[in-house]
Order: sequence, then structure tokens, then C-alpha cells
Amino acid sequence: MPLPVHSVCVFCGARPGARPAYAEAARATGALLAARNWRLVYGAGDVGLMGEVARAAQAAGGATFGVIPAHLFPLEVGKRDLTAFVVTETMHERKKVMYMNSDAIVVLPGGAGSLDEFFEVLTWRQIGLHTKPIFLLDTEGYWQPLIALVENIVAEGFAAPSLRDFVVTVPDVAALEAALVTAFG
Ligand code: AMP
Repeated sequence: MPLPVHSVCVFCGARPGARPAYAEAARATGALLAARNWRLVYGAGDVGLMGEVARAAQAAGGATFGVIPAHLFPLEVGKRDLTAFVVTETMHERKKVMYMNSDAIVVLPGGAGSLDEFFEVLTWRQIGLHTKPIFLLDTEGYWQPLIALVENIVAEGFAAPSLRDFVVTVPDVAALEAALVTAFG
């Protein structure tokens, strides 16, 4: 396979979540990235949805780039058999390396860590630090409360309406593929 032209950063849960649909969506995302020859950039864990995305991408022959801080290595079971594997000193370095090496951000269902990552790239976009597209994969409506929160932030005057334009919500992996194809031109 030729070297990947685009890299997609995936933020997602370190746990599998309560519904089988979450792991299915994570696997479909990994398979999509490999099929399109887009490199997966993610947190290098082998647990939860993180592991599902990475194993699916690998199984389909995709390129994978993982970044993990040293202190999380045992907890998130650092996945060393990736195409590229980086251990950082801090969480902040991890996020910076992931973000700098990506052309688009995809947020799958996840917990507080995924939300931290989402809001960081959203706020950086809001203040003009980058123009990378941000996609929310809304599997079974998981992110509806987050979308409602963003709407409420705008409605209550704490952000410009453009805040909601920085986030593209897609219902499933087929729609994610179409949105990424459009974004990459
Ligand atoms: P979670 O969505 O909580 O399952 O976490 C998903 C990923 O986010 C995991 O790799 C966590 O290590 C990471 N994470 C957890 N807390 C933070 C944080 N404060 N900042 C950035 N990433 C985090």
C-alpha cells in the first residue's frame, strides 16, 4: 500500500460502553480508515473502544500511529505493535502529538477523557488555532446530550453561533466516510 496521505485522529472510550453498537462502530471506523488508506492516530491503548478501532485497522492492513503517556501505559495496555508508537511524558504532550499529526478529528462514544479531548480541539478551533474538521460519531444518539449542550451554550450567549459549525455530527460510519471524503477533497 502507498503511504497514507491523510491521518485521522480518533478520540474514544477506554471502556467498551454499555451497548454492543459502540464496539461495532469502533471496529467499522478502524476498517474504514484502513480501506481508505487513512492513517489512524489514537491514544495507543488496547482497551475498550480504543483497542477495537486499532485492532480493526490493523486487521485490514491500515497504518496506525499511537501516542500514550508513560503513566497510562499499564492502565490502558499500551499497544506496541502499531506502525508507529510514541510514549510521552505527559498527557498534554500526548494530545499535542496526536493533534499535530492529524488532518481531521473523529470523536466516537467515550467518557470524560474523550470529552476533554473534544473540547480541547473545539476550543482551539474557536480561537483560530487550527482549522481541522471535527466529527462526532453519534452512534445510537450517544452524543445528543453533548449536541444539546453546545446548542444551549450558543442560545445562552456564551459562544458565537459559529461554535456549532465547527462540529459535524454523523449518525453512522457510512456518513462519516462521506464526510471525511468531502473534507479531504
Ligand atoms: P475515556 O473517554 O474517559 O474513556 O478516555 C479516553 C481517553 O482519554 C483515554 O486514553 C484517556 O487516557 C484519555 N484521557 C483521560 N483523561 C484525560 C484528560 N484529562 N485529558 C486528556 N485525555 C484524557
